[in-house]
Amino acid sequence: MTTWTDHTADRPISLTAPSGIDRAAHHRFDEAWLAAAWSHPSTRCFVVSGGQVLIDETPDGRTVLVTTPTFEAPPTEAHRYFLGTDKDGVSYFALQKDSLPGRMDQSARPAGLREAGLLLSPRDAGLMVHAVALENWQRLHRFCSRCGKRTVIAAAGHIRRCPACGAEHYPRTDPAVIMAVTDEEDRILLGRQVHWPEGRFSTLAGFVEPGESVEQAVRREVHEEVGVTIGQVEYVASQPWPFPSSLMLGFMARATSTGITVDGDEIHEARWFSREELRAAFDSGEVLPPYGISIAARLIEIWYGKPLPTRTTV
Ligand SMILES: [Zn+2]
Repeated sequence: MTTWTDHTADRPISLTAPSGIDRAAHHRFDEAWLAAAWSHPSTRCFVVSGGQVLIDETPDGRTVLVTTPTFEAPPTEAHRYFLGTDKDGVSYFALQKDSLPGRMDQSARPAGLREAGLLLSPRDAGLMVHAVALENWQRLHRFCSRCGKRTVIAAAGHIRRCPACGAEHYPRTDPAVIMAVTDEEDRILLGRQVHWPEGRFSTLAGFVEPGESVEQAVRREVHEEVGVTIGQVEYVASQPWPFPSSLMLGFMARATSTGITVDGDEIHEARWFSREELRAAFDSGEVLPPYGISIAARLIEIWYGKPLPTRTTV
């Protein structure tokens, strides 16, 4: 039995920390409550468009999600998503629009989750990831999967209803597994996907299939992609990853074989790295540091035992 000691536990996984927002799902069906909340002077809203929001820097150097009182909200027929309330009773809404509003001041700028998720507080990142996930789902589910007719938004953004057949469709989340595979020598297995640039290596990952447990998915994906067999599988943490609708379930997994045979379809190249080899590969530029926002970076760090260099640009 391996015990993983996380020497980097003070570094939270992006988008995973508690946001402090109560989603208050019971209000989603209460039109009178929603109308009152929307017009309340303390309520805050922000626009989400194409996965982006406006962010800004405060004078003390923090990055914040730009929100406005609803009376300053852009006039819109936009979809309005109720995201919840905070401990002070402030309600939060996101407005889905075809474009972001003009810059509110000189420093506000548009940003997507890969960038903003690293910079924002857990509260702001939580609001943003909720809004982006709803936007993605709304955009891709405009028609009824039962009868094919156009659906309409309901439950403050959390349901799409079919007027033709009465079906209700709920936001979809696709579970995916992502795993740091280690061997008996405590080396880590990293792979490069076929469409990734030279030098970009990361943990293996894949979608959970119908009728499959997540542990089965870990073992199947690793074996399919690189031909390595897996014994012990240990859950670590999860991360919402709405690109467009995934939930990444992170694992540490122990290999029971080490011979690598890449499938060539998803994985182009895979290698075992000791800590020293990975450090040297980062230093020489042979391997690019992982994206700081990704749970993959944290899984590798947990194995590595101390913070790794990370990058934020794609
Ligand atoms: Zn229908």
